[in-house]
Amino acid sequence: MKDACAREITYLRLSVTDLCDLRCRYCMPAEGVDKRPHGEICSVEELVEIARQAVSLGVRKVRLTGGEPLVRRGILEICRGVAALEGVEELCLTTNGTALARLAVPLREAGVTRLNVSLDTLRPDRFAHMTRVGRLEDVLAGLEAARGAGFAGTKVNVVLMKGFNEDEIADFVDLTRRYPLEVRFIELMPIGEGIREDFLPASAVLEAVPELEPADVSGVTRRYRVPGGAGRVGLIEPMSHRFCAACDRIRVTADGRLKPCLHSDREIPLRGLAGEALRQAILEGVAAKPPRHYMVETGRSDAARNMNQIGG
Ligand code: SAM
Ligand code: SF4
Repeated sequence: MKDACAREITYLRLSVTDLCDLRCRYCMPAEGVDKRPHGEICSVEELVEIARQAVSLGVRKVRLTGGEPLVRRGILEICRGVAALEGVEELCLTTNGTALARLAVPLREAGVTRLNVSLDTLRPDRFAHMTRVGRLEDVLAGLEAARGAGFAGTKVNVVLMKGFNEDEIADFVDLTRRYPLEVRFIELMPIGEGIREDFLPASAVLEAVPELEPADVSGVTRRYRVPGGAGRVGLIEPMSHRFCAACDRIRVTADGRLKPCLHSDREIPLRGLAGEALRQAILEGVAAKPPRHYMVETGRSDAARNMNQIGG
């Protein structure tokens, strides 16, 4: 399916919960979010039906996200249901990694093909500060478990923040010398709890490690490598390098609303729909994709939700 700008939409990001076991300062309020009544969040069956109809319209890659997808009851059932859909080429999951030591093998068996693990610092004290409640060792154990479970091409997502992790850029890049990981530096966006004062442009990565050489472009990621390195370094620059022309995705929130763009407040309700009615609603959402976001001009995302509700 194509949108009004002739962009082919092949990627669905499906949020399975608003809840999270961490409280990253740029994403969640300190007190977390209220658990919503059961009936307000899509059931396992509803989520799989949304994925089924999106796939029937041309989606080839589905990513489960959240909140933290691994705190969702029924996450393995959701994975199995989506993985079984004919036409799904990739089933990915974005996680903070805290539960991966326990769940990496079951996720692999449930059909997940690739993992993105969010990790903004390699220092235990900073990790505890940024996540308010987390322990770095749990995430490192999770990454190790993912490797042991046979996950290849795992990506580590690092949100760049001035005064927080700019002095760790070289340490993260070093990981790609030794391991076949893709470390992706993401610019902080002025959405949810993310504030402009903490913004650090992705160009800081190229300044910190001048030996990085361009490798290729993959979707919205510009990729680099250190000469002879086993992995890759990716830059995702929603603020400095507008990549909206390459946008191939739609998002669905855990309460079943399709977001044509992460940064727009437009939402199309999908709950209660199935079959052809659901397909038509998804097509309506694709047709409503704006050409681009306006965060640079306005300094703020127009999305009326926090990131834990949309899934990044
Ligand atoms: N809990 C999972 C995790 O942390 O990977 C999945 C959901 S989280 C909302 C998805 C991604 O969005 C994470 O990599 C997180 O760092 C990123 N994120 C959250 N708020 C952000 C912001 N204001 N700007 C840029 N990235 C953000
Ligand atoms: Fe939770 Fe992910 Fe948001 Fe951190 S970024 S609070 S792990 S949803």
